[in-house]
Amino acid sequence: MNYRHLYHAGNFADCMKHALLVALLRALKRKATPFSVLDTHAGIGLYDLSSPQAEATGEWRDGIGRLLDLPPDTADIAPLADWLALVRKIMAEYGGRPVYPGSPELVSRSLRPGDTLVCSELHPEDQRVLRRLFHNNPAVSVHHRDAYEAIAALLPPKTAKRGLVLMDPPFEQRSEFTDLVRAVSVARQRFPTGMVAVWYPIKHRAPPRTFFNALKDAGQRNLLNCELTIRPPLDPEKLNGCGLLIANPPYRFEEEAQAILAPLCHYLGEGETQSVVEWIVPE
Ligand code: SAM
Repeated sequence: MNYRHLYHAGNFADCMKHALLVALLRALKRKATPFSVLDTHAGIGLYDLSSPQAEATGEWRDGIGRLLDLPPDTADIAPLADWLALVRKIMAEYGGRPVYPGSPELVSRSLRPGDTLVCSELHPEDQRVLRRLFHNNPAVSVHHRDAYEAIAALLPPKTAKRGLVLMDPPFEQRSEFTDLVRAVSVARQRFPTGMVAVWYPIKHRAPPRTFFNALKDAGQRNLLNCELTIRPPLDPEKLNGCGLLIANPPYRFEEEAQAILAPLCHYLGEGETQSVVEWIVPE
């Protein structure tokens, strides 16, 4: 396990994933009944952007750095307001230090009494850091466990009949897209009422297309895809964009997703940028 998210935290891909995640959580909170989130590749929860690792790549400067440099009342970033306000609040709580909240921290801040978060993280050191972050929070549990095992073992959630499964693998393994096809099927079989959101990289077009075809062949329906490409996906050595595929999205989420992706495209792109929200398979 060589991948360490600290090198990439707060980059354009995190911004896209986390802005959409906060919107999905907002949708879950529209109903009073409790929800549960399973974060299958949770990471360490909070990332120090002044660390040597984050500074080594400086990726966050072209991601969250650009957005935080804008005045908070900039009109066209209104669809990002909830997420950015949460990022600013967490930074303020840490004395203004540049800490960037990852998915489990964003989810934990969105829980109401009765809602729960279950995290799995396989890296021995990272799961320890995550466990420490939430040691005082009874609504959050952390499992030192393989994501794909966790999906089979921890779904459906014990505490709620609705919720979200977030899959955010590092794509270190060549089999990751194939593993995800199986994981989406297992998650939806075990938790049919839940939403499933899968983050994926766009280096060039072929792998995501193959992924979507495999999901269709597996009989998956009700799949909405959101993509942001910060430059044309021509150089397969580069992360040119990313996507979030959502199974069972909230009602009319496509409109909300478009509104969220537009300012990300505008402020984080490198010229020929593009955002797409499309149904891969309708309901
Ligand atoms: N979801 C996090 C966020 O948004 O803040 C970032 C996750 S990072 C992209 C991927 C994480 O998955 C890394 O922390 C890595 O250690 C972990 N990981 C890698 N393989 C895993 C596996 N098979 N099961 C669980 N976690 C895994």
